Amino acid sequence: MATVQTIVEPFRPYNSTCGYCKSNRNTNFQSASLQAYHMSCSVYQRMIDRGWRRSGLFCYKPDLKRSCCPQYTIRLDATEFEASKSQRKLINRWNRFVFGGDSGAGEDTAISRPRKGKGSSNEPQFVLEDAIHASENALNDPAHVFEVTLEPSSYSDEKFALFQSYEKHIHKNPGKISEDFKRFLVETPLQREPIPYPSTPPAHLPSHYGSYHQLYRLDGRLVAVGVIDILPGCVSSVYFMWEKEYEKLSLGKLSALREISLAKEFHDAGVPQLKHLYMGYYIYTCQKMKYKGEYSPSFLADPEDFTWHPLPACQRELDRFRYACFAHPEHSLEGPPPSLGIEPPPKIPEKNLSHVRYFIGTREDPSRVVPVTKSKYWKNQMSREGLLYVVEHLGVDLSQDVLFLP
Ligand SMILES: [Zn+2]
Repeated sequence: MATVQTIVEPFRPYNSTCGYCKSNRNTNFQSASLQAYHMSCSVYQRMIDRGWRRSGLFCYKPDLKRSCCPQYTIRLDATEFEASKSQRKLINRWNRFVFGGDSGAGEDTAISRPRKGKGSSNEPQFVLEDAIHASENALNDPAHVFEVTLEPSSYSDEKFALFQSYEKHIHKNPGKISEDFKRFLVETPLQREPIPYPSTPPAHLPSHYGSYHQLYRLDGRLVAVGVIDILPGCVSSVYFMWEKEYEKLSLGKLSALREISLAKEFHDAGVPQLKHLYMGYYIYTCQKMKYKGEYSPSFLADPEDFTWHPLPACQRELDRFRYACFAHPEHSLEGPPPSLGIEPPPKIPEKNLSHVRYFIGTREDPSRVVPVTKSKYWKNQMSREGLLYVVEHLGVDLSQDVLFLP
């Protein structure tokens, strides 16, 4: 049992119009969903490793079999990451911009800091962390002052103004209010827990797991914010928003490279498991989401047994099948999704539920829990079925580390 309690309210699954292929006839289904009020970072790590994802306090697990645009969990191993030529160019271009226009000044001194490479080549070796941090607090009178800081997720008018501008200009969604921003990008169920560094980490690394905002400031002005979760096994990207006037500098791609670097820096500071970047869902059918596959080596989670499979092999399957099962190719499906409606409630033998508990605490007695099958709520079909969907998609082991609200 995790030391931090996790308390969730199960919901019945739902379906919604697909937002990826923009066809209002197509539907994407969820297998399960819940509202999390309190969640340990290790429980959430295990959830995303089973295909879940959070949006604010709300957590959901897409049903890939029933969806026109299946959403596969993707992750990148930051310790093995090799920046492509265009990714290196992108970082160098940003650094040139910060150091002094597009003249290329500073390229040799600060951007590709020479290191004796392992190979025989005389070319300076590209070191991602060095290249990423070169533009911060640069010396020698740079054209711009660029600063990146990490802080626990919180509301500020400045961040909200950036969110509003980003939604309006980039997503053509005007009229966002501060409640939208708070619900979607500030609220989190994740409880801050200390990161087990073996010794004092570099000053820019945070001390705790949890939900963060990474603030990008240019000459003091907030120009971008990355919303990330820092978990026992990964940095998980939630959202990234930027000022439209910097569109040409590809801040979105730069942020992914910065987050890869961050994961590697945790690993190198002595937290060996924390070495992945999770970029959310990889959606093969959606052109706009394909960029997530441009970082190598990436892996997709199998939709049935949640083992990890190298992206290039997965892409070959996704070329052939709408629903691709990488661990059991014989389960893959072609053609449009069956119009089956929402999956019927799962059947789980009661004996497997003996350690699954309802939280029925009160102010006087906050610790009260009761086995679900011994509870009066178990007799109510609606609440029983809602719970069973969630238990089925968390798996029995993980369900034992969660307390359910009836
Ligand atoms: Zn679709």
